[in-house]
Amino acid sequence: MVTEKKDIVVLGAGVIGLTTALKIQETGRYNVTIIAEILPSDPKNIKYASQWAGAHHVSFTKRDHFQHPLDKETFEEMWRLSQNEASACFLQLPQTEFFTGEREQPSSLEHMPNFRHLTTDSEEVIGIPGAVHGEAFTTVTIDVPSYLNYLLSRFLGSGGRIVRGSVQHISQIAESGAHAFLPPAERFSSDGFPRPQKKPKAPAAIVVCVGLGARFLGGVEDADVYPIRGQTVLINAPWIRWGKTLSNLAAMEWTYVIPRRTGIVILGGTLEPNDWNATPRPETTRDIIERNLKFAPEIIPAHLRKDAEKPTLDDVLPLVVEEGCGFRPGRKGGLRLQAGSIQAPNTDRTIPVVYNYGHAGAGYISSFGSARVSLELLEKALQEWS
Ligand SMILES: Cc1cc2nc3c(=O)[nH]c(=O)nc-3n(C[C@H](O)[C@H](O)[C@H](O)COP(=O)(O)OP(=O)(O)OC[C@H]3O[C@@H](n4cnc5c(N)ncnc54)[C@H](O)[C@@H]3O)c2cc1C
Repeated sequence: MVTEKKDIVVLGAGVIGLTTALKIQETGRYNVTIIAEILPSDPKNIKYASQWAGAHHVSFTKRDHFQHPLDKETFEEMWRLSQNEASACFLQLPQTEFFTGEREQPSSLEHMPNFRHLTTDSEEVIGIPGAVHGEAFTTVTIDVPSYLNYLLSRFLGSGGRIVRGSVQHISQIAESGAHAFLPPAERFSSDGFPRPQKKPKAPAAIVVCVGLGARFLGGVEDADVYPIRGQTVLINAPWIRWGKTLSNLAAMEWTYVIPRRTGIVILGGTLEPNDWNATPRPETTRDIIERNLKFAPEIIPAHLRKDAEKPTLDDVLPLVVEEGCGFRPGRKGGLRLQAGSIQAPNTDRTIPVVYNYGHAGAGYISSFGSARVSLELLEKALQEWS
């Protein structure tokens, strides 16, 4: 017996919406439509965090936190992709994390390939100003523009659909699905005048992956969602094939070098909760470069320095491609991975709603794990409500 595929609408086309939509579409049991205001191929936009990420896979959730296995699961999938069909989107590289305070043990990174602790008296730690401990391992960095487009093309290739639209309230979708956002030829019949509307169809379920947009989307309006501003400097430095971070968590200061496969290197960074300034601040750009020159002077090889002994701001400036600034979608209480429901207006139908947002600085890191949980929540809710 052939069962009809159920229509699912996913709101949002950041790394979370795309990965979740892909996971659902690839089961072969659903017709998934993504509706999103900003799409992966659009110019960078402050309403779309995924374009601003470094991004590397370095899990910082505690080992007993529910998100930790999701991070591990995602790493395994990204490692596999980096060796296979999506190798052009990833760089496998040695990574070192340095800490200015004692690190909770056991480390949340012990599962990473080639993991080793670096003690206070190890040569690597002694060379880093302020560091007392370190962890070295192998990981991947993600070339986010090509990776988002890879996810999108894989989703489209498996039969999914994406339409642009700014949704004001999830009840719009609960009643009429993607209808209001479809091209006119699909919304209206060609015969008669005025052209009659084609009949809108409610979806079987809605999945909400709108990141920071969850604070504003009608029917969700999650007041716990807030921006964690992150400013970065992108330089062209293809000789850098290692990553490193210096975390001073007491001061909320985070200095990092994230090279992408393309040769672009992201220097970071900042962690600024509830800071809504969407423009890079020049004094922060300068501070990021100066911090990185102290932490990782080897970003400028000797032959590119004016003074071979010590690199300066002037050595870095000709390499700068862009100053970046994005809002990580933070959430008090952490990520929301949950099922609920909405009453479809003017009907007695209850439509399941799955929430998958609020990943803060770990959207890439836990993307596949949280997409898998979303699929499980979706299938359970569909059984309960239909
Ligand atoms: C500087 C910086 C560095 C980072 N580095 C890393 C890193 O190294 N590793 C890592 O894992 N993460 C990193 N992050 C965090 C990561 O970028 C986010 O966790 C992730 O991008 C969140 O993805 P998302 O899909 O939830 O949200 P977004 O990417 O913001 O996507 C939201 C989507 O929802 C759509 N939308 C919102 N509201 C509506 C609406 N009402 N109607 C229709 N569409 C709507 C938007 O248009 C968009 O398509 C970094 C972030 C920053 C800023």
